[in-house]
Amino acid sequence: MSRVCIVGAGFTGLSAAYELASAGYPVTIFEKDPAVGGLAGSFRVGNQMLEKFYHHWFNSDRYIMDLVRKLDVEDKILFRESRTGMYYSHRFFKLSSPMDVLRFKPLSFPNRIRLGLGALAARRIENWTNLESITAREWLLQLFGKQVYEVVWEPLLIGKFGKVSTEVSAVWFWNKLKLRGGSRAKGGAEQLVYFKGGFAALAERMAEEIVRLGGEIRTNCEVTRLDVFDQRAVRVHSHSETVEADAVILTTPLPIAAELLKPHTEPDYIAGLGRIRYLSNICLVLELDRSLSDLYWVNVNDPSFPFVGVIEHTNFEPASSYGGRHIVYLSKYLPREAELYNMPHEDLLDFSINALRRMFPDFSKESVKAYHVWRADYSQPIIEKQYSALIPDVRTPIENLYLATMAQVYPEDRGTNYAVRGGLQVASMVKARLAEVASAI
Ligand SMILES: Cc1cc2nc3c(=O)[nH]c(=O)nc-3n(C[C@H](O)[C@H](O)[C@H](O)COP(=O)(O)OP(=O)(O)OC[C@H]3O[C@@H](n4cnc5c(N)ncnc54)[C@H](O)[C@@H]3O)c2cc1C
Repeated sequence: MSRVCIVGAGFTGLSAAYELASAGYPVTIFEKDPAVGGLAGSFRVGNQMLEKFYHHWFNSDRYIMDLVRKLDVEDKILFRESRTGMYYSHRFFKLSSPMDVLRFKPLSFPNRIRLGLGALAARRIENWTNLESITAREWLLQLFGKQVYEVVWEPLLIGKFGKVSTEVSAVWFWNKLKLRGGSRAKGGAEQLVYFKGGFAALAERMAEEIVRLGGEIRTNCEVTRLDVFDQRAVRVHSHSETVEADAVILTTPLPIAAELLKPHTEPDYIAGLGRIRYLSNICLVLELDRSLSDLYWVNVNDPSFPFVGVIEHTNFEPASSYGGRHIVYLSKYLPREAELYNMPHEDLLDFSINALRRMFPDFSKESVKAYHVWRADYSQPIIEKQYSALIPDVRTPIENLYLATMAQVYPEDRGTNYAVRGGLQVASMVKARLAEVASAI
């Protein structure tokens, strides 16, 4: 039967491979990292795996939930109420429920109502295509007015996208409001979802199933070259081996896919792939002997603070899972050339602790029992106006080569749920095409 080679063992590559292997196709996944999981990959803290970059699901994330059910590990899904807050003007505010919004002092009372009603109105929008032609800034100002925009949304937009924040499309922000605002328990409190054993446990479970179905997963195996003959990809090369392919799926960030495709496609096509820009992300993960606050997720609405979020993971998954250590992520999206992104680890730690002490004056370096720094060059596509026109098709100019990447997730923003959807979609296309080819022989 025809062999499908998949480049990348993130959630897109794994779900495509699982789907194809379930249908009886031999699959080979190439992954440059030592382990599967991609951006949702993990590392060990004590006896437990922890995501390099904080991860949770929303309770509406149906593609991943369906997958979990199919893999027969539904009992590992953990629904949890989460406490979200905001750091603004040197104070913390809880912002998890409608009551919290009504008590949110930095806004005038009428504007607190406007914040709540605006968020509800945003969530009710179904037809997002009208939002494609305006920026998030323009849309948010219209919907929420100046005070709500300046206190609540503008610092977040700038904190996340920096210099390009004024280019971000309303579609991106609409989706954030819809997704996060919609993930609620019955009483109206925010509810998020985690997986027992972490995202690594799910990625490993998928890998195990792919192998059981006859698939192969090559880790530490970076794809360096493709052979294309007569407009068909025929071989995939890594440093250590070469595999013959009847179809190839690339799930890497677009700039990496472009490098692999460059020798085989027209310059215009490669330029089109390059048109989508990405931000990088740096996460400093602290293992602490104490908790910082009772909030899981703190949006930092203070432009002088170097990180956009302080995420105390152990207010979501208990510290007991990590040998009593309290886990805090400090996250920042930024261009690859930014100073913070390139800082030596020790300097980054000292710099971050100084910043944290402004927020938590009792905090000291002695509480840091270990720390880890994770970087991802391509972590967030910049969703600008009319983004739909920039998205490359899953089909490429090479007949049996497909692209299924994070940057093609739209109008939703990237996420493992949509990675699974993308993986399933591309697998269906590949199956249909291979069946067509087989029946023509
Ligand atoms: C800071 C941060 C927080 C996030 N939070 C969440 C969250 O809370 N919930 C959520 O669902 N999602 C979250 N996401 C998004 C989520 O991680 C991604 O959407 C998802 O993991 C993308 O999966 P993917 O398979 O499409 O891409 P990737 O995970 O990027 O997988 C691509 C894979 O290709 C491999 N690769 C690249 N080049 C080569 C090559 N030449 N040869 C072989 N392999 C190669 C890479 O190593 C990688 O493993 C977050 C992302 C970030 C950065």
